[in-house]
Amino acid sequence: MDTILSSRLTEVATFVPKGSKLLDVGSDHAYLPIALIQSGHISSAIAGEVVQGPYDSAVKNVAKYGLSDQIDVRLANGLAAFEVTDGVNAITICGMGGRLIADILEAGKEKLAQVERLILQPNNREDDLRTWLMANEFTIVAEKIMTENDKSYEILVAEHGKEVLTKTELRFGKHLLTEKSETFVAKWVREIEKLEVALSQIPENNDSDRSALFQKIEIIKEVLNGSGK
Ligand code: SAM
Repeated sequence: MDTILSSRLTEVATFVPKGSKLLDVGSDHAYLPIALIQSGHISSAIAGEVVQGPYDSAVKNVAKYGLSDQIDVRLANGLAAFEVTDGVNAITICGMGGRLIADILEAGKEKLAQVERLILQPNNREDDLRTWLMANEFTIVAEKIMTENDKSYEILVAEHGKEVLTKTELRFGKHLLTEKSETFVAKWVREIEKLEVALSQIPENNDSDRSALFQKIEIIKEVLNGSGK
């Protein structure tokens, strides 16, 4: 994939099916559709952006790379960037909070019937996004955890289909739990450390808050030790 992409977006790009008609929501600089077209992975895309500044930057970059015929940059909120007649069959939504991604999907969900694959990269609240996907009959077909600049990122790939995830799977990710990569373990060890600092700051007499935090820590430890469900 072209070098204009960060390693995070390079990883996202690997999940875009070859030949897709892609909508990239919150495209900002439009680097993802630009790189995918430059590499011949896809031949056309829509780059959606709701804020004028990033929209202008997407238009400028698309023109700079000579791709204005292949990438349609649209100033629009979320899934309002496409119509069913556009034939979009893959959507990427990256670099935003998990709740915002779920809200974007919820607001346009009637248009998702023809979309075969969602490639989502939440910066946080992955559990909220998995909960939305499960409630809306999407099944998570792949997950990836990676780090860039000392921050870990999760990528969720979803397609139509029912699945029932446990509370633990919603929080930690079904595929990530199975794989239990070094990056996954490091993320949750860091989370334990943060919670332990928070626990140490709660007064000894505040039993309810202390026990809630203690339980959170125990759940993560159980998952890391392979005994969590
Ligand atoms: N997707 C790129 C990436 O992952 O590097 C850019 C991420 S940037 C942090 C988030 C972008 O999403 C911003 O440009 C923001 O304006 C845009 N955005 C936020 N909410 C949006 C919405 N509802 N519809 C379209 N774009 C949105």
